[in-house]
Amino acid sequence: MSNGGFYFRYWGVRGSIPAPGPDTARYGGNTTCIEVQVGDQLFCVDGGTGVRMYGQDLLRRLPVQVTFLMTHLHWDHVQGFPFFTPFLVPGNEFHIYSGHHNGGNILGVLKQLMAQPAFPISMDAFQSEVSFDFLEPGDALPFGDLTIRTALLNHPGGVIGYRFEYGGKVFVHASDWEQPADGSLDEEFVAFIRDADVLSVDATYTDDEYQGKVGPMRKGWGHATQEEAIRHADAAGVKRTILFHHEQSRTDAEMDALGAKLFGGRTDLSFAVEGERVDLL
Ligand SMILES: [Zn+2]
Ligand SMILES: [Zn+2]
Repeated sequence: MSNGGFYFRYWGVRGSIPAPGPDTARYGGNTTCIEVQVGDQLFCVDGGTGVRMYGQDLLRRLPVQVTFLMTHLHWDHVQGFPFFTPFLVPGNEFHIYSGHHNGGNILGVLKQLMAQPAFPISMDAFQSEVSFDFLEPGDALPFGDLTIRTALLNHPGGVIGYRFEYGGKVFVHASDWEQPADGSLDEEFVAFIRDADVLSVDATYTDDEYQGKVGPMRKGWGHATQEEAIRHADAAGVKRTILFHHEQSRTDAEMDALGAKLFGGRTDLSFAVEGERVDLL
């Protein structure tokens, strides 16, 4: 490692569908994408629309080697890839890990995304080296002094959580996880996030939305509530919890009001903000 740095940055924090506009400008409207840098190794979790801006940032520091880690293959986690410009520039290397979800993988999804009649340019236009690998949830990926642990989390079709362990610090990104619908504690999830220094966790709904007291009941839709995300983080001894994958219709003003009610002055809880960088080392 050339240096001891360890940070992540949110390029997209919105769930399900992009939600740009004046009402979401502060927390951000792009779908999920998280840059993680450990020493001089670059990682990126998911390729929602936020990956377009990550690509613009990378253009200023070419050539690069980036390892992508896919949580799963739903639209909001892949839809930015066709606009990730560094794929089209020679001299870079990208390695993309994904699991198999409902029989599919990231290579198949990218081929479909970048093909007529839905898109004018195919993967043949890639000038960089782009390679693919497939992992089984539970696999640990060693990258020198960094270990990335993985786990299968509760979501329709499955989703992979990533736990980065480096320099005595732990960062866990757990997107698109749904709490147990019966109100019990997800013990396997608690074990996976245990003692994390920072947890970035799905918290799409309020408890009232999940239960169907406001709008349709959301049980089985694949997402957690803010209250349950915090309860699980507390049970696991997480030091700092960042609520992520914001519901698409949630405005900045509504998020501010929710945060004031939910966090109760606790400084270890916050909502993810597009562009925010969090340093672990
Ligand atoms: Zn999602
Ligand atoms: Zn999903």
